[in-house]
Amino acid sequence: MDLGIAGRHAIVCAASKGLGRACATALAREGVSLTISARTKADIEATAEEIRAAHGVAVTAVVADVTTPEGRAAILAASPRADILVNNAGGPPRGDFRSFAAEQWLAAVNDNMVAAIELIRVLIDGMIERRFGRIVNITSSAVKSPVADLSLSTAARLGLTGYTAGVARQVAQHNVTINNILPGWFDTDRFRSGVTSRAKATGIAFEEQLARQQAAVPAGRIGDPAELGDACAWLCSRQAGYITGQNLLLDGGQFPGTF
Ligand code: NAP
Repeated sequence: MDLGIAGRHAIVCAASKGLGRACATALAREGVSLTISARTKADIEATAEEIRAAHGVAVTAVVADVTTPEGRAAILAASPRADILVNNAGGPPRGDFRSFAAEQWLAAVNDNMVAAIELIRVLIDGMIERRFGRIVNITSSAVKSPVADLSLSTAARLGLTGYTAGVARQVAQHNVTINNILPGWFDTDRFRSGVTSRAKATGIAFEEQLARQQAAVPAGRIGDPAELGDACAWLCSRQAGYITGQNLLLDGGQFPGTF
């Protein structure tokens, strides 16, 4: 299916690796030019070069921490008129809820809620004027199904989820949509470091822990980041203009509810 977005421009945050990179790659395959960002210069430049070589679109690499005002200013300076915005950042630390003081809570809210809200605030009026905008926030399945040691992530991302639910309805009439993708387990560096720490905590080998997690997913496997990238590109398509304010769970069936 032609997604009808060739020639559009997208900002994809936190995109040198993992889920962000997969979203950038899927959009590039559809002919979307890109501004991609991450904090590590060598990685973001290498990813930009690989996407350019594979898909022949213009890709600007910005070395920026998306959780800081300076980082967001650098991204926006490179791309002040994006048609598509994919919000993403590293996740907050895991831990017992008793161990987090106000400082950690404020950092989580900044990194996983305010950073996305700030980029939306600056870019959305341009999207409204041009009568096309697609915003996708990468959040987490923990928003729908709390995980014991992920209270920072769950709470901060739920704040972003509530914000976008309200804003999505205010801009839908202008063909601007905002949706959230809720990943379950996808095979990225972050996922593998989580498997490593769980394996250490239980005193078992990495492979055994990985097998246990795979067995807990009805699909019987961990997700491929490319699958999430494809879902993101589809939510950014011309055809998806009537889908807004939604939370798309990609978890291989792990959430046990009917809805
Ligand atoms: P990943 O493989 O570790 O990749 C993270 C990417 O984000 C890298 O390119 C990293 O580059 C960049 N990044 C991290 N912090 C950044 C910052 N402050 N500013 C700019 N770039 C930043 O992680 P991932 O698995 O793709 O996870 C992406 C997001 O999805 C995280 O918030 C994670 O919690 C969430 N998530 C992932 C899963 C999963 O199974 N993978 C499940 C649920 C939720 P630099 O380090 O160079 O900046």
